[in-house]
Amino acid sequence: MPNPKKTIAIVNGTGRQAASVIRAVSAVGYAVRAQVYSTEGLVAEELAELPNVTLFEGELLDNPALIDTIFDGAHIAFINTIHLAGDEIKIGKALASAAKKKNIQHFVYSSMPDHSIHNPKWPALPLWACKFTVENYIRQLGLPATFVYAGIYNNNFTSLPYPLFCMEFKDDGTLEWRAPFHPDIKLPWVDAEHDVGPAVLQIFKEGPTKWNGSRIALAFETLTPLQVCEIFGRELERPCKYVFDQHIEIKVPVPDAYRQQLAGIELLFGIYNAPYYPGSDFEYSSRRKGSNETITGRSSHEPSGKGRPGKLTDDARKLWPGWRSLSEYVSTAFIVEEEANGKTWMI
Ligand code: NAD
Repeated sequence: MPNPKKTIAIVNGTGRQAASVIRAVSAVGYAVRAQVYSTEGLVAEELAELPNVTLFEGELLDNPALIDTIFDGAHIAFINTIHLAGDEIKIGKALASAAKKKNIQHFVYSSMPDHSIHNPKWPALPLWACKFTVENYIRQLGLPATFVYAGIYNNNFTSLPYPLFCMEFKDDGTLEWRAPFHPDIKLPWVDAEHDVGPAVLQIFKEGPTKWNGSRIALAFETLTPLQVCEIFGRELERPCKYVFDQHIEIKVPVPDAYRQQLAGIELLFGIYNAPYYPGSDFEYSSRRKGSNETITGRSSHEPSGKGRPGKLTDDARKLWPGWRSLSEYVSTAFIVEEEANGKTWMI
């Protein structure tokens, strides 16, 4: 094993994004100092066994001692916060301030947009806009930083009755996905566990010289809801229907903040057809010759005509060409996850 190259500070280590980063950086010899909310459970136990990985258990809210500990001796950081841990703005700002104090050389922050600044009609999604507030704070601090924007995770899909990404197995053997996304507008997708880690590793390798201040879409495919259902139908060999429904049915208890998020999603996507990633950083001008591919968040009859050349997925695919498609996810990992959830439809 080589000597550790750099030490990386991470929070919410057992989350899908951070765990993916820990696996990728540890495999190539980086040392990791990661905060986790609990050291119990399969993922925490797996990560604790990896070379040069140290886990620190505890809450981040109002806990400067723990925050200082994870940045102790660290050179770089990957920070993705979650609302379940409490005030994300307070936690995010505390992490950024500590990183600044410790002279962190590259702070990769998992951000999300505040749609309300792009169009007065669009609501700010509470679980996303708070991240954008922290992004602005990081910029004000002058930390060398890069902002990754995760697409929709492939593994949001489940046949459990969770809202928004429930792939329902009907009694007649067919599948149905019901959501407030326009059937023909492309959405960005990422296999978080498979691909966030390698992409972020490459961002660290290329460093702030290349990426300081940039926003990077961590999205490897853009697919419409109809294309998503076509993929599920093909890979699981059963008809799969997409049903556009402005209303998201909530059949299980969900935290209040997530309920508000879902209400915002009903408006933002179900009524206004807003782009998942708003703003000029995510606007692309070109269509490939001979391709019918549309630009994320825009309908096929509304090409952008301005913005960067290329496609939304270009940065992510250049960073990590070994990404997993939704097709591969459905035919492999989805089935395993469904079995782990006690489902038997695959037998
Ligand atoms: P995750 O959802 O995989 O992990 C959640 C972690 O929180 C787990 O480690 C779990 O053990 C822990 N946890 C559960 N309950 C807790 C509690 N009450 N208190 C503290 N911790 C608790 O995390 P992730 O997917 O890496 O990151 C989530 C973030 O990513 C969210 O802010 C979300 O908005 C954002 N995001 C998600 C998507 C998506 O499609 N799912 C897309 C873009 C951005």
